[in-house]
Amino acid sequence: MTDLDALAMFDRCGFDFVHAAAGYTPAQLQAHGIQKDRAKQLHATASVLCGPTSHTKYQARAEEGARINGHRLETLAYIVRSSRVLRDATARWRYIEQLCNTAGDLVRIRHVAADLKAELQTPEPRVPRARVTHHGDGLATLRLTGPAADLQGVYDAAKHDVAGWLGGGCPKADYVVRVTANLDLGDYVRIMAGEGDDVRVHFDNGVIVSGEEFVRMQLEELGSIILVGVMDGPVNAYHARFAHPKHREVMLADSTTCTWKGCTRPASECDAHHMEEHQHGGETTPSNLGWLCKYHNSQAARGTRGHTERRDGQIVYVSPYGNVTATGTDHKARAEHRKPDPP
Ligand SMILES: [Zn+2]
Repeated sequence: MTDLDALAMFDRCGFDFVHAAAGYTPAQLQAHGIQKDRAKQLHATASVLCGPTSHTKYQARAEEGARINGHRLETLAYIVRSSRVLRDATARWRYIEQLCNTAGDLVRIRHVAADLKAELQTPEPRVPRARVTHHGDGLATLRLTGPAADLQGVYDAAKHDVAGWLGGGCPKADYVVRVTANLDLGDYVRIMAGEGDDVRVHFDNGVIVSGEEFVRMQLEELGSIILVGVMDGPVNAYHARFAHPKHREVMLADSTTCTWKGCTRPASECDAHHMEEHQHGGETTPSNLGWLCKYHNSQAARGTRGHTERRDGQIVYVSPYGNVTATGTDHKARAEHRKPDPP
């Protein structure tokens, strides 16, 4: 047998080595002349794949798969190590079993593992917290998770001049007076009656709050809630003549984000795009305007990447092949969905 044959055989016997290491401490393994990192790797892998567990059937199937597929030690160690992020024991064993029963080298296993992890991992509920990363060059990065409206106020106040903001006592932007909420009249009535805790109010800066939070915000300062009537909706407003800032407000009844397919850039960072171009007779009225972020405005201008237009009152994205995707508010469905409000 050549050295290469020996290496091939060694690789195919990964599970045999794990099995042989079961029950030994890293120190005992080192006493066999095994190097320290290898001893730790063997011990960690063996204690899961061959150690005591409540999931013995999973463990047996994992062993069978690992032997049939001839997984090498590195692959088995990776499977065990990467399974630790799955907190639920059954999910963790399903992960281990499935990967042991997947043929291929470590590259292939890593690939399958990524998909499998996404499938098995239940996202942890987000909690308010702060994190700081020091970069060692005098700068650090701060990450905050907290109530959306409060943090947007911090971001708005800091974004253009972080150093000045920090030096000025970190004020929170009073953004409430500057943003616009687009709200159906019926939803508004429900929120005011204290029944709107399932209503999501979208602001033009990307903040989304529940109806309940919305009430807690100082409504009298919200100079620009757009109430969309069930019967006369924003469709009526399209024919009205508005001063330019008003256009932006009315446009929010159509969408609070970029109206290109799949884009979620908030309206506050978008331009009012003429869906029918100005030089081709498109008017500057809300009916002809839709939000596009800078990038998608440039894509629309190219003429070969698709475009946005209004169909049946709703803004849609039309691909170069003619596929239509609704990206704006469906005013008709909204009106039909909601019974007329009692007088
Ligand atoms: Zn966009």
